[in-house]
Amino acid sequence: MSAIDLYARKTTGFDERLAHAENVLIAAASEHLGRIVQSTSLGAEDMVITDLIARHQLPIALGTLETGMLHEQTVALISRIAERYGLEVEVYKPVTESVIHFVKTNGDKAMFESIDLRKACCGIRKLEPLSRMLAGRAAWVTGLRREQSNNRGVVGFSETDDKGRAKINPLADWSWNDVWHYIATHDVPYNPLHDEFMPSIGCAPCTRAIAVGEDFRAGRWWWEDEKAKECGLHVSEPAVSMIGAQA
Ligand code: SF4
Repeated sequence: MSAIDLYARKTTGFDERLAHAENVLIAAASEHLGRIVQSTSLGAEDMVITDLIARHQLPIALGTLETGMLHEQTVALISRIAERYGLEVEVYKPVTESVIHFVKTNGDKAMFESIDLRKACCGIRKLEPLSRMLAGRAAWVTGLRREQSNNRGVVGFSETDDKGRAKINPLADWSWNDVWHYIATHDVPYNPLHDEFMPSIGCAPCTRAIAVGEDFRAGRWWWEDEKAKECGLHVSEPAVSMIGAQA
């Protein structure tokens, strides 16, 4: 059974939520003309946003973090976006020397040893490349939704990050059913791993399938406590955000 079969459902208020998301994106593109980027994890929500950007021909750049640890199905979406929409995705990779040093010092399974080492790995492979993606930009667009986890329950449509940039979350009030209804209706390309019970997809070593009834993000850093389960990209404390994280 595919993710579309499982989740695509039109529920009350979908048309209004879609219209609102479009208005949020259109207004942000205009307000931050030439200085706004969609930071896409290439997950289902982000593919919806990319489709909206393409559909409305919005002047919003696309950027992604290629951590070097992604599934090949995730990386393949970069060229699928180019083929489908004619849009180029800026690819930000970690500094090779930093990765080599980290792995040499801590091993290639360090993320499982402690939260500090896991966050350090996210810092090198995600946070530092993100800082390059956002350099010189006034706003970024994410696929955060309030429903994704307790930690994200208060996500606003527009926030300010710890560097004073606007952080735009057009799908903040969307449900998982909304996301898949949009994908099904508009034939949006998506990661086939979503068909294998992976609703939230990150780096390969740190992502697993979830079981029926498990929390949406239960398959991410599943060996850690719930409160620790953010890579730092969407945590506002400066100390966390710049140590050394696309959710
Ligand atoms: S998600 Fe895992 S592999 Fe990816 S950067 Fe974070 S700790 Fe490293």
